[in-house]
Amino acid sequence: MSSEQLVLGGVRTAATDGATFAVIEPATGKPFSEVAQAGAEDAERAVQLAHRAFEEGRWPRLSATERGRVLLRTAILVRERLEDLAIMEARNAGKPIRDARGEIGLVANVFEYWGGAANKIFGETIPVQDAGLEVTLREPIGVCALITPWNFPLVIASWKIAPALACGNTVVVKPAQLTPLSVLALADILMEAGLPPDVLSVLPGPGATVGNALATHPLISKVSFTGSTEVGTQIMRLCANNITRVSLELGGKAANVVFADADLERCIESSVFSVFGNTGQDCCARSRILVQRSIYEEFSARFNRRTEALVVGQPLDEASEIGPLISSAQRQRSLDYVALGRAEGAKIVSGGNASTEGGYFMQPTVLMDVDNQMRVAREEIFGPVVCIIPFESEEEAVRLANDTPYGLAGSIWTQNLGRALRMAKGIRAGVLSVNSSHSVHTEAPFGGYKQSGIGREMGMHAAQLYTEVKSVFFSQE
Ligand code: NAD
Repeated sequence: MSSEQLVLGGVRTAATDGATFAVIEPATGKPFSEVAQAGAEDAERAVQLAHRAFEEGRWPRLSATERGRVLLRTAILVRERLEDLAIMEARNAGKPIRDARGEIGLVANVFEYWGGAANKIFGETIPVQDAGLEVTLREPIGVCALITPWNFPLVIASWKIAPALACGNTVVVKPAQLTPLSVLALADILMEAGLPPDVLSVLPGPGATVGNALATHPLISKVSFTGSTEVGTQIMRLCANNITRVSLELGGKAANVVFADADLERCIESSVFSVFGNTGQDCCARSRILVQRSIYEEFSARFNRRTEALVVGQPLDEASEIGPLISSAQRQRSLDYVALGRAEGAKIVSGGNASTEGGYFMQPTVLMDVDNQMRVAREEIFGPVVCIIPFESEEEAVRLANDTPYGLAGSIWTQNLGRALRMAKGIRAGVLSVNSSHSVHTEAPFGGYKQSGIGREMGMHAAQLYTEVKSVFFSQE
């Protein structure tokens, strides 16, 4: 069993109070690493170091090009170590190894993007009425607390770390307690790539202590949080105390709208993975499939057949398509929702049970005859459970797609271009795909409407999350 220290100001160290916790492998339910557990004292030290590094250190004062080079070297090192990082992520988060490789590749892409973007973040010159020159500067905000979830541990951490560093901030990262390993490994890589010490700390530990200490600390200038809407609400309240800047990527209940004229072959192949990929633990999971009534039975039968052919298996097995859930509690929550769906009148046509092999496996589950008012259709399950809901008209499809407190992602399947455009304009969600389930692109903005969040990560939009705008007027008199 490996043993990992936390990262304080770029240096690996034990927790101040010596506490540790066990990281469990979801595929076996057994511990496979022991990790230093940060507490409030470690959070305080990390913030003080990052604050000093911001006020006096080299990083914010380096040229943007030099900062970019550190990130580009990070991308190269991540690619060189892709297989080791993918195995670590597959074991810790219970992901099929093929998916884990894809995710680590994405992490490298994100660092490459921000390595190149660092010196392309600039202000404006604005023609004002007074005689002189008005310019805006984009400046780093300060110490950023980056709080991340367990479902895509390194991908989501990199969406925050790379732009925050590119913009010249210093950072304290709080990974989810269930999945700290890959973020700790990334910290080592960043140091090797030339990030000055004190710029980055990584504090594995409980949200209620470490996360809370960061969100309330007066020297934290920005909190970037990805996680549940419930905790996001608390974070926003905590940030109000010091007017700390905050961006939130929260839950979702995405609609996958399938019209009768869709290319069903492509749609079904893609839709199955759009909800069961990552065992349904995906904020973008297309967990409500809205299907036009005339093809409802045919679509459901074909979707079911494809679901039953999914290979649920061990993360390190090359053939596996679906791994276990992250924890016993997460599996139980999904099973409870299946029972609730049955009680609400839905028909379970596939799956519905835990798998018997060791670890937190569960059969991908399809619920039919679901009404959008049922709780299974309204609440984020975050497990391998999909609801199939019929609709008649385009207007009804838009209404159902929008009848949710969330607004993160969605898909539209039709061969009619006008309809695709009308639907894309009508659905109130931050990330839509037409004839595709692909909603995450390194170069494009990502984030939610309504209770799915505030702000846009990814693409150049993310620079707005990690910079302040300063307006400076030079008089010519
Ligand atoms: P979570 O909200 O329980 O935890 C997220 C992070 O916040 C963890 O690091 C946790 O330790 C920390 N935390 C918990 N309580 C805290 C507190 N009081 N103060 C500060 N920090 C605290 O979420 P999770 O279970 O790790 O992840 C699943 C959720 O994340 C789902 O709801 C999912 O939809 C959402 N998610 C959203 C996106 C997105 O981009 N919109 C992406 C991935 C996951």
